[in-house]
Amino acid sequence: MSVLFELKDFCVSYGPVEAVHHVDLAVREGEIVTVIGPNGAGKTTLLSAAMGLLPSRGALAWQDERLPRVTVEAMVARGVGLVPEKRELFGEMSVQDNLLLGGFARWRAGQRDQRARMDEVFGIFPRLKERRTQLAATLSGGERQMLAIGRALMASPRLLMLDEPSLGLAPLIVREVLQVVAGLRERGVAVLLVEQNARAALQIADRGYVLEMGSVALSGPAGELARDPRIVQTYLGLGGGSAATGTVERMKEPS
Ligand code: ATP
Repeated sequence: MSVLFELKDFCVSYGPVEAVHHVDLAVREGEIVTVIGPNGAGKTTLLSAAMGLLPSRGALAWQDERLPRVTVEAMVARGVGLVPEKRELFGEMSVQDNLLLGGFARWRAGQRDQRARMDEVFGIFPRLKERRTQLAATLSGGERQMLAIGRALMASPRLLMLDEPSLGLAPLIVREVLQVVAGLRERGVAVLLVEQNARAALQIADRGYVLEMGSVALSGPAGELARDPRIVQTYLGLGGGSAATGTVERMKEPS
């Protein structure tokens, strides 16, 4: 499958401090790619900069076309959607109105398919249909995450970037939300999934990258990463390492 989205030598700094160092990463059409790593590894920074919300250096290409500047407008125009960690819903608006806002850019561009898209979102998340007139602020954490994903799907994205969709959710809800994410592949939507929940992310992803201290420490097919002893020990909780503090480097044999 052809490459949809690619970062090369991608760096992001906060003032003088570089938080993401020389990252190479690609997402192919319809592929689910996860970025896992401990707290503070730079996952959110990487995603925000790739969406044009933070300045970056290096190259970002969309379908082999290098973008002269990475801006939110350029990314949205190419069909990239971001579901931020904080969900950022409009709490005083209904579920339905939040969804309609997600489809606003398409409506402005003259595409009048918002009802059909909303029905599709309700098909994916029947719980949102039951609660369509409820205010977003009164939804449960899981329902809020579903609404945030549903709102992004209203824009008919080619690539959906998800920042920690499992954060703060009970394990059963995490599974439900990630099953939906896995199902996006069949709808032709590629996914870049940032997760601290490495086990859940590697179960649904095709490929993964391990980000540590702003750099890619390991990458490969998700199945291989899930079996890699360093990942198992550091991120999957079967050894002494902890996902919050561990690094793959520490687990490497001295050379
Ligand atoms: P988490 O899983 O805890 O969300 P993360 O992998 O997403 O962590 P980032 O939030 O991207 O990590 O943070 C990467 C580094 O950049 C951290 O050292 C963090 O302190 C720093 N950082 C993040 N936001 C800012 C900011 N606005 N200004 C300065 N430094 C920042």
